[in-house]
Amino acid sequence: MTDVKFNDFDISDDIKIAIGDMGFDEPTSIQKLAIPEALEGKDIIGQAQTGTGKTVAFGVPLLEKIFIKDRSPQAIILCPTRELCIQVAGEIEKLAKHIKKLKILAVYGGQPIGRQIRALKKGVHIVIGTPGRVLDHIDRKTLDLAGIETVVLDEADEMLDMGFREDIEHILRFTPKKRQTLLFSATIPKPIKKITKHYQNNPKHLKISKQDMVVPQIEQYYFETKDKDKLDTLCRLLDIYDVKLGLIFSNTKKRVDYLVRSLKRKGYSVGGIHGDMSQNQRDKVMEKFRNEKINLLVATDVAARGIDVPDVEVVFNYDVPNNNDYYVHRIGRTGRAGKTGFAFTFAAGRERKILKSIQKHTKSKIKKQKIPSYKEIEKIKDNTILDEIRDSLNNDNLKKEMVLIDSLIEENYDSRQIAASLFRMVKS
Ligand code: AMP
Repeated sequence: MTDVKFNDFDISDDIKIAIGDMGFDEPTSIQKLAIPEALEGKDIIGQAQTGTGKTVAFGVPLLEKIFIKDRSPQAIILCPTRELCIQVAGEIEKLAKHIKKLKILAVYGGQPIGRQIRALKKGVHIVIGTPGRVLDHIDRKTLDLAGIETVVLDEADEMLDMGFREDIEHILRFTPKKRQTLLFSATIPKPIKKITKHYQNNPKHLKISKQDMVVPQIEQYYFETKDKDKLDTLCRLLDIYDVKLGLIFSNTKKRVDYLVRSLKRKGYSVGGIHGDMSQNQRDKVMEKFRNEKINLLVATDVAARGIDVPDVEVVFNYDVPNNNDYYVHRIGRTGRAGKTGFAFTFAAGRERKILKSIQKHTKSKIKKQKIPSYKEIEKIKDNTILDEIRDSLNNDNLKKEMVLIDSLIEENYDSRQIAASLFRMVKS
């Protein structure tokens, strides 16, 4: 099982090449289990959450079935949030990079419906949408599901939690009976079982073990601090690690706003997202973060649900999350695709107890770490500057600058003094 390769799957070369382009060598556990079964046309209950590679697990078999010449919707993927729709569409686009003329459309609330209608009219093969907006299109007769062969219910438990059960059932009834239904969900509570019983045909239940759920290459640390000292601790860590892309979680919208304001005041490049912001505002911030126009994103759990931002170096739990799943979800945003990530949790007062319980339930190894002192930070900063100077001395052509320094030496300044003055300028 462990040495299964993507090449072992009965999939087209176009997709194999795309997977190579994406940098994946070996399929993840859910991919090893789900891809062969789904390629055979079987219905699947994939018990796997974000961070396990589930999108590729359903994306590959779904793409294999698309008949390009027929430009009507053949697959529909339902997702709980607009952010997840965008993310899933992005991943499927990448998988389909070498499949010519394939059209994918994401439809979700908040975006002008006219644009979506025009795109649907032109013809699309795969629709990715939130249940509400998909239903809206069905009602307007702008989306015809008569030709659907594959339905994916992504993060099904989240969709039910958000009250989409009726919408989903409604949509499923518009699709042909003879279809393949792939359901992915981190948990399988009773209402999900009901859906699978009603709408799936003898589904295969594939469960991913706990170890596969938590991304292993994450170094997890916690810091004991007082609530009023959390901001200072955060800044110290941001400076020491020189964080280029970091995600900071806080438990309330108010605290997200407070953190964004405080960090901005201290000169950090930061944005925030939470449920009180309009979709448009949230999208803009996400776009900036994805393009690394801002280094830090502060978010609540709900706003960040399902977001996939590659290359997040550090996840900060500014507040200890209120439940175990949130912890796993949060830290799963780092350490992606074989890279090592860091997760730093700040625990004040009674949060320490909650963290202990999280540690026990998620079987995580969260090590206690001392908050670095200013002296230690100083030392690290000094060494970083010295390294940069060494690098420049070894690699840069400094002729022009040396002429300028000569003019200072002619004024009788000592070269060590000049260098020390420059060092201070760089540091401040
Ligand atoms: P998902 O669970 O679909 O949200 O995927 C989580 C992350 O894993 C995404 O960033 C994917 O691009 C990445 N991923 C998917 N499949 C693989 C794989 N076989 N090897 C490494 N990373 C992967």
